[in-house]
Amino acid sequence: MSRIGDNIVRITAQLPEGVALVAVSKFHPAEAIAEAYEAGQRIFGESRAQELAAKAPHLPADIEWHFIGHLQTNKVRQVIGAGTALIHSIDSEHLLRMVDSEAVKAGRRIGVLLQVHVAREETKFGFTPQELLGLAASGSLAAPMQGAEIRGVMGMASNVDDTERITADFSEIRRVFDLLREGPFAGRPEFSIVSMGMSHDWPIAAACGSTHVRIGTAIFGDRQY
Ligand SMILES: *Cc1c(COP(=O)(O)O)cnc(C)c1O
Repeated sequence: MSRIGDNIVRITAQLPEGVALVAVSKFHPAEAIAEAYEAGQRIFGESRAQELAAKAPHLPADIEWHFIGHLQTNKVRQVIGAGTALIHSIDSEHLLRMVDSEAVKAGRRIGVLLQVHVAREETKFGFTPQELLGLAASGSLAAPMQGAEIRGVMGMASNVDDTERITADFSEIRRVFDLLREGPFAGRPEFSIVSMGMSHDWPIAAACGSTHVRIGTAIFGDRQY
């Protein structure tokens, strides 16, 4: 088996039960994705609309594409058109409404996650926990939509070498998820996803209650372009 295939098999074997692997294939060519696919991987994450739209048609139709990067409203149609199953990175109510209306226009239903900002870095996108819980409490998030279905939350830990800090960040994301699940999203079984953990911190994320880890470098190596 290829090196990429070996990595898929090894990481998959290490994941706790109930944790899914999103193989982050951004900046890697379709051939690399095909190697991971050969090893059994079916969920892939991309972070740029154009790159996703360029690669997806060359790859097997049963791949489940996830969009994980910052999404500009003028790229929403392209991301939905590429067949994306789940957008991890909803960081404003405006973007949420846009995804909903474009999905309706495309005659599709698309899963989305609400991005929670807890990391120390100023540049990261997302709702702060207070913003998100406030918005949800006002009732404007949990009302069912025709095109978009809110399926959980996504977040990143601070990019530091401090296990305690990372643990606190992931625990906070999980806490926000639990509050939403028991509150505004109570009785909604589709609200079940906590997307957190990358190559360097996924074991901590899994220990803090992640259901989906997004791993790129540890599978594909350094990004190629
Ligand atoms: C690139 C990226 C990842 C994967 O990062 P690695 O360190 O390569 O595992 C995960 N999540 C998001 C949002 C990303 O942009």
